[in-house]
Amino acid sequence: MPSPVPPRRARERSSMRTTTDGIVIGTANFDNCDRLVTILSAELGVLRAYARGARKPGSKLCGSTELLSYSRFVLFTYRERTSVDAADVNRLFWHVREDVEKLALASYLCELSAETSPSREELPGNGAGDQLRLLLNCLHMLDTGKRSSPLIKSIFELRQLSLAGYMPDLVGCSECGCYESEAFHFYPVLGELRCAACDTDGKRDQFVPLHPAVLAAMRHIIYAESEKLFGFSLSETRTKELDAVCERYMLTQLSRTFSSLTFYRQVCGRTL
Ligand SMILES: [Zn+2]
Repeated sequence: MPSPVPPRRARERSSMRTTTDGIVIGTANFDNCDRLVTILSAELGVLRAYARGARKPGSKLCGSTELLSYSRFVLFTYRERTSVDAADVNRLFWHVREDVEKLALASYLCELSAETSPSREELPGNGAGDQLRLLLNCLHMLDTGKRSSPLIKSIFELRQLSLAGYMPDLVGCSECGCYESEAFHFYPVLGELRCAACDTDGKRDQFVPLHPAVLAAMRHIIYAESEKLFGFSLSETRTKELDAVCERYMLTQLSRTFSSLTFYRQVCGRTL
């Protein structure tokens, strides 16, 4: 006769308590005062958790489970449902929250991160540490104003896509292999370069002509070590071109847009 109590190992598997540092990259209101949060953590990837009573005035979870809160979470998973037992704030990125344009850009980075970072179920062996570090570094640059918004956005889009398996091949011309040329054409659909000499019959609506400084920036963004990622400068004009090509590459590769990106564009009063 089967025992009514499940074997000990099965019970251990179905419930688990974990402590992890992560950043809130999405929130939704749930029931009266609860909040459903999307968290990006190095060890767990993207996960969703219920923060009970987080929207009650005076709740201990109120600030630590808001969008952009980088917190130390104590999570409890029972069967398929994860809840936030406790959370202590590491960093809140106050200057981003106080500036509408920065907040709009940060919201877009979070939405893109949630879409393209590995979930807990599909987490690779090396975790999501690279994705978390990239997002935190970009938010730090935005918070401190050390880099312009278009540059931060371009760096995040191209690097995040590369981490997600959409790395373009920017080593050289896909036809002749040359590394340097007077003019390179970048094909967002293919993620490839062709030099002007090889691409005499290229269709103008299918490629983006790249200024050498923009190509150098793109190469740096995808090939540089993480610590040196922000270690380059670009004029305002070339940054606009970089912004345009990185966004077009993201939209083409993911075949979708983001409401937060549309909102950011409206807030900046800029269209590409
Ligand atoms: Zn060529």
